[in-house]
Amino acid sequence: MAKLYFHFGAMNAGKSMLLLRSAYNYAERNMRAVVFKPDIDTRNGHNDVVSSRIGLSAQAKSFCRKIDIADWVVKQHKAAKIDCIFFDEAQFLTQTQVWQLASIVDDLDIPVMCYGLRTDFKGDLFEGSAALLAIADSVMEIKTLCWCAHKATMTVRVDEDGEVVKDGTQIKIGDNDRYVSLCRRHWKAQMPEAPC
Ligand SMILES: [Zn+2]
Repeated sequence: MAKLYFHFGAMNAGKSMLLLRSAYNYAERNMRAVVFKPDIDTRNGHNDVVSSRIGLSAQAKSFCRKIDIADWVVKQHKAAKIDCIFFDEAQFLTQTQVWQLASIVDDLDIPVMCYGLRTDFKGDLFEGSAALLAIADSVMEIKTLCWCAHKATMTVRVDEDGEVVKDGTQIKIGDNDRYVSLCRRHWKAQMPEAPC
């Protein structure tokens, strides 16, 4: 039985690398894996490639908040069997789209593996992550470390001048800001207005 998976981690935890490694395993066995990425992610100058810092990359189909993913997959699957579906930056899925992924798993028996951030730099759940945490069959944390060597679960946004950004929109991928993964204690020290 196929499952809906959510692998979450802070920024720079190696999520894309793990996605690409799994997708590569399918390709190696001559199985068809489809990789999706959000249409806002232009970090590599391309919107049709997922790549990781260690050099792996894969062709990707971009998704926006409006696309009916189940509809697209049903048509593609009829034309050529899909063995597995991957989502990079899955936090940008809508709740409706996450339910579409559940339908793909339940009705087509295709495993769907989502990789993404749990929370934004303000410590709030992303819509896609909230829905995945709620209904995924399997939820796994990809761990990374704070500078203090404790597990980093939070992310701060740092602007071009090196200042921590305390307000604004949720994480934008591909802009000039940088993101730093921190343990909750050190995140709170940077975000004095956090609700704690
Ligand atoms: Zn720390």
